[in-house]
Amino acid sequence: MTLCPPLIDSFGRQHTSLRISVTDRCNIRCFYCMPDENLTFLPRDELLDFEEILRFVKVVAPMGVTQLRITGGEPLVRRDLNKLVAQLSKVPLVEDLALTTNGILLAEHAQILRDAGLQRINISLDAMSEETFKKISRRDGLDQVFQGIFAARRVGFTKIRLNAVAIRGLTEPEIVPLGRFARQHDLELRFIEFMPLDAERNWDQQQVLSGADIRRQLEAEFGRLEPVPREDPSQPAIDYRFVDGKGRIGFINPVSEPFCGDCNRLRITAEGQVRNCLFSIVDWDARQLMRNGGTDEELAQLVRDCVVDKKAGHGIDSDEFIRPQRAMYQIGG
Ligand code: SAM
Repeated sequence: MTLCPPLIDSFGRQHTSLRISVTDRCNIRCFYCMPDENLTFLPRDELLDFEEILRFVKVVAPMGVTQLRITGGEPLVRRDLNKLVAQLSKVPLVEDLALTTNGILLAEHAQILRDAGLQRINISLDAMSEETFKKISRRDGLDQVFQGIFAARRVGFTKIRLNAVAIRGLTEPEIVPLGRFARQHDLELRFIEFMPLDAERNWDQQQVLSGADIRRQLEAEFGRLEPVPREDPSQPAIDYRFVDGKGRIGFINPVSEPFCGDCNRLRITAEGQVRNCLFSIVDWDARQLMRNGGTDEELAQLVRDCVVDKKAGHGIDSDEFIRPQRAMYQIGG
């Protein structure tokens, strides 16, 4: 395998991580991500097929992109996802293959995903109460999420992380129960600040419940949290552990403490648009290139162009910030 020059942007950041969205469809309707009704999903022929995804990954892996995360929409609604996982897990140089899911269909997929070579799972869990879960997701399903978490554990996934989006005025009463659940079951829990990527465009800075506020609540209940030294400077979370040794909590604070300076991530949307930032207002069309007979060299150049164009930061806090047209479910979180 010939290695290619690494993907380094104009600010010296090397890109080693790729989020692959496999669908814009989802089985719930979280208000911070999707509209509740009147959705038009991508027609099937506009989605990259597995061969196209595989080809893209085989082009970027020798450029140093060795960490993959499958996402969506809800990746588990994409038919035969285990087949994609099996193919990606065999791509030379790929070191880490992870999935982000809302957990609803996980109980039935956990075993086949594990057998296919999936290494890690992040499960979204914003609330421990059915009422709050429903207010957020506008659907039922909390019990299925718990079943999914336990199934993942049962089939042997050891690296299971829970992701909770924190919303001021809504999820404060969930913080301590989430912390307790994570401690009880020895799961890593990460709180994520609400970002302006909701389809209904109702995001307001006032709804951002900061990581610092959450930490204070957790410490009042469970005792002091001490910082865990960072193993990987590009990881988005600031991690802490409780001094009693039970449990680990991370905070992803893209709004109050942006971490763009260490960003190593690229994304490819379900319809094959390459993006250098969640908040990018430009896409690079890998699907068109692949479907029009473009070569692997041209595909590699498209990715390089995308990386070189990356801005220093997302700029949410600046007056010039322009929200992307795409909402989170159309990008891949
Ligand atoms: N459906 C899967 C899931 O729920 O995990 C994967 C896709 S979802 C878009 C990925 C992650 O993005 C989830 O943890 C979700 O909570 C988070 N997310 C979605 N919209 C967000 C927003 N506006 N701000 C912060 N996080 C968001």
